Formats: sequence, C-alpha cells, structure tokens
Amino acid sequence: MTLAPCSIAIIGAGPAGCYLADALGRKLASARIDIFDRLPTPFGLVRGGVAPDHPGTKNIARQFERTLAKDGVRFLGNVDIGKDISVAEIKQAYDIVVLASGALVDRALDIPGDTLDHVYGSGAFVSWYNGIPDGRDLSPHLSGESVAIIGNGNVALDLARLLAKTADELATSDLCAHARDVFSAAAIRDIWLIGRRGPLDANFTTAELAEFGQLTRVHPIVDPAQLPLAVPTEMPDEQRKIAEKNLDLLRDYANRTPTAEKSIRLHFVFFAAPAAIHGSCGAETLELERTYIERGRIVLTGERWAIPANTVITAIGYRSREIPGLPFDAVRGTIGHEQGRVAPRVYTVGWCKRGPQGVVPANRADALAVAELILEDLNSGDRTITEPAKPGRLLIDALLTERKVQVVDFAGWQRINAAEIAAGTRAGRPREKLTRIDELIATAQVQS
Ligand SMILES: Cc1cc2nc3c(=O)[nH]c(=O)nc-3n(C[C@H](O)[C@H](O)[C@H](O)COP(=O)(O)OP(=O)(O)OC[C@H]3O[C@@H](n4cnc5c(N)ncnc54)[C@H](O)[C@@H]3O)c2cc1C
Repeated sequence: MTLAPCSIAIIGAGPAGCYLADALGRKLASARIDIFDRLPTPFGLVRGGVAPDHPGTKNIARQFERTLAKDGVRFLGNVDIGKDISVAEIKQAYDIVVLASGALVDRALDIPGDTLDHVYGSGAFVSWYNGIPDGRDLSPHLSGESVAIIGNGNVALDLARLLAKTADELATSDLCAHARDVFSAAAIRDIWLIGRRGPLDANFTTAELAEFGQLTRVHPIVDPAQLPLAVPTEMPDEQRKIAEKNLDLLRDYANRTPTAEKSIRLHFVFFAAPAAIHGSCGAETLELERTYIERGRIVLTGERWAIPANTVITAIGYRSREIPGLPFDAVRGTIGHEQGRVAPRVYTVGWCKRGPQGVVPANRADALAVAELILEDLNSGDRTITEPAKPGRLLIDALLTERKVQVVDFAGWQRINAAEIAAGTRAGRPREKLTRIDELIATAQVQS
C-alpha cells in the first residue's frame, strides 16, 4: 500500500477548499495539492460574500494565504473546471479530486412578477457590490424610495445595513467604488425586511441585528403585536439565548420614536409571504400574504396587502452551479454525494456539499471530516493508490498552456493583493478592489 506521493486537486479556493488543503497537507506530508479557482482571486465568499463593512470577518484570509503559500500547495486562479479543464481530465490527472465550489446561484422566488426589472437575487447583488467580475455590471436600480428585501437571515441584514449606512459609515469599508457611487446616489426612504415566519424563527445573529440600533439615519420599526411575550422554554439552550437577546432588541426597536435625522425607516415585517410583484416599468409594489405557523409549518391565511417596492432583493438561499461531468442533486441544489463521496476518489466539501448553510468556521469541521474520509479510503485496500501515480500537475499544466489559459498563481495573487491594498491606502480604505478579469490578470502579471 502506498499513501504517497499523492496528487490532489481541490476545485474552489474558498474557505472549504483552503481548510481542506491545510488538513490534507498536515496529514499527507508529501501530497502535492493544486487548488483551482475559476476567479483570478482566492478565498471565495470571504472576498466576494462577507459584507464589505465587516473587515474583521475577512482576517481569516491571512490564514488561508499561509496555506496557499505552503510547499506542495499551488494556487491556480482563473481556471474554470468544467470549462477550461474538464472533470474527466482532472480525474485523469489527479489521484484525489475534491469539489469545493460553493453555492451562490440565487434560488428563484417563483411568484408572479419575479422576472420584472429591478428584482434581484442577493447572490447577484452581493457579487455586484463586492466586485466579483461576473456580477460587477449588474448596475441595480436604487433610485426609488422603497426597497423590499425578502428573507430573514444575516444576508438580508447585510443588504439592509449597507443600503442604510451613510457614506461616512461606509468610509472604512472595502465596498467597491462602482457600488459606492450607486449607494451614495440612492434616494431610499423605506427598507422592508420580509419574513414568512415569526421573529423567533429569524436566522439573525444578535450582533448584526443590534447594529441597526446604532446607525445614523435608520429608524427600525417593529410591530409589537408580532413579538411573542417570551421565548418558549422547550427551545434548545443555545438557540434560546440568541432568541431572547434578539427579542430584547426587537422590543427596544418597537419602543423607539422616530426623529428628524432618522431618514430611513427599516420595517421588520414578520408572518408575511411574498405573493406577487407588480409594476408596469419594473417593480413598483410587492404583494404579501399574512401567514401563521402551525406545527412548524407556514400556513397562508388569504389576507393580502401590498407595500411599495421600487427594488426587490431576494435573500432566500442559493444553489451550486452545476459542473458538467459531475452528479448534481437538483432538489438540494448541491453536488450529488453520499456523505462527502461523489465517485471513487472524488469528494466534496463546504457549501457545494452541505448547501448554503453555516459561517466560515463551519467549513473547517467539514474539511477535517472530509480529510479523514479521504485518508480512510486511501488506507482501505480497494482504494489504495496503485503505481504508477497519476501525472497530476504535469498533464494539467500542459493542457492549460495548450489552451492559452492565463493562470494566476499565488505570486500573481500577491501582486493583486498588494495593488489593491496600496490603492485602498491612498483612499483611506482597507483595499480598493480590482473588479475586471483583464485588470486582475494584468496586475497579476506585472513584474516588479
Ligand atoms: C452574502 C454572504 C455573506 C456572508 N457573510 C458571512 C459572514 O459575515 N461571516 C461568516 O462567517 N460567513 C459568512 N458567509 C458564509 C460563508 O461565506 C460561507 O460559509 C463560505 O464562504 C462557504 O465556503 P465554500 O468554500 O464552501 O464556498 P465559497 O466561499 O463560495 O468558495 C467556493 C469557491 O469555488 C470557486 N468555484 C466555483 N466553481 C468553480 C469551478 N467550476 N472551477 C473552479 N473554481 C470554482 C468559486 O469561485 C469560489 O472561490 C456569508 C455568505 C454569503 C453568501
């Protein structure tokens, strides 16, 4: 039996891919690990999802950089697996292949009017303000007075907070220049946060919910009649503690009186299911239907009303992008797998395995479990790597050269990183992101 040398391809340089590379590097000292990303930049949603005004959350990127810089690990950015290199070629080249390609394709709202202009999925909207190259030209309509955000999770809170903050409050963020211009020209007076369930079912973290109480121009509005008197005692301890803190915050918001400087009303609307979007030139109103919860299920009451909504943004979850040559679970919107195993020697980790749930650190535990699975399979008789070892990077490098793919390696990423930070420093920000593929590649290729 031989466990080394072993060539490993990880598809996706987001948190799951980086945590896995780290875990495998420790367990299989002589492994040669290639991490591919379709973007010229690594770190997945740490760069392209996490809110630009929460820089602390992005510090984890430094740990991931150390992983990418390790001996035996290579970053190959700007390589789209399924397009530049097929899954069959990757399998032919590497002993082990792991899909860590995430999930950021917006789930459809699936109500009448959801294809009207000025209706956006949060995946597209977040990609736009965070400068993901293929989302960068969205140019969303934000010149109306009323924006409805559908969803009751932290992404919905991120959207509401960024729309509500003043330019001063965003001054230390790494919000992209093109988005800053649109945000500062916006004329928003009302933001509606719509949840089909009640306040205790919302997936808000307390710190994110509390921020609305501190913002210069936001007046949070909560209908006290929608708040329960207490959190049910049967709720599991950890969940109950969060629910109690959130309920206290919502009670505080319900008791606030509007003041002149609070020019943006943030309406928390619970027990309301989106029913239709209406408008003649893009979205104008969002029709809602009152709900109640019975034995954990949402029940529609038939009672409908409409709110003004010049822009509608859905934050209702994501699916993975299908990669040709790999099984896809269309119901869950993930790579098809059995507890992380996709096919012999092919595995999956992170959001493309579990679906779009869990914060960055949750992918570490997942990566450790998948690393164990891989070791277990390598150690078991029928999956032992047989000689000769597969060609690994030799084959892939030849294909990439032949196809003229402009690969961004780790040194290229460091040049991009340095250029962005330098531009940010000049503007008093953490970084000024490059948002176009050609400028990212050109910067990666600049020789000092
Ligand atoms: C809007 C938003 C805000 C969030 N905010 C926070 C937060 O504040 N704090 C927190 O802890 N968590 C946050 N999260 C959750 C966190 O981002 C995820 O837990 C984490 O990013 C999932 O990691 P992943 O590696 O599975 O996927 P991703 O981070 O999506 O990484 C997947 C990578 O795969 C690449 N890829 C995809 N397809 C291919 C292909 N065919 N070939 C090559 N590469 C490919 C992608 O370009 C991407 O880089 C947020 C999520 C979202 C959507």
